[in-house]
Amino acid sequence: MDRLFKCAGCNNKFEITKLIRMPGETIVQPDGFTFDTGQNYCQACFDQQTKDNILLKDKGKKIKETEIDGITQVKDVLINTNVNLLADIKRKISEKTNEKGLRIGEFKIGDESGDIILVLWNELVDLIKEGDKIHLIRGYVREWNGEKRITKGKQGIIKKM
Ligand SMILES: [Zn+2]
Repeated sequence: MDRLFKCAGCNNKFEITKLIRMPGETIVQPDGFTFDTGQNYCQACFDQQTKDNILLKDKGKKIKETEIDGITQVKDVLINTNVNLLADIKRKISEKTNEKGLRIGEFKIGDESGDIILVLWNELVDLIKEGDKIHLIRGYVREWNGEKRITKGKQGIIKKM
């Protein structure tokens, strides 16, 4: 009998091929061991979890005033914090598919104060391109190989301007 895996949303059990891995935080331990905190979701729960996380263009999700306040300049972003940024997509640096089949795209983004690397997953990789201006709300900043990188984060929103 095939082993069944639990959906992290509805707790129903599915074959692994029916589940979608949601990227979580990537944890790197001092000894170099790396794991991620992502969880598996069935299609319905995945859709539910991600419906507010797609890129929106000039419509859709209402953003609270308090979330628009406090735009951080790129030069001032701090590691392990959430930030709101207004930035231009300067170029796509790379795209790769990891061993779990997840696509990871890296983009150089910036404002007048500096540049930072934005890391996006899966279908989000296709939804922005060079020249776009984005409003990233609740992006999460981490350090990787000595560089600051920003991810959308679980609660984040990327809005095309
Ligand atoms: Zn489910």
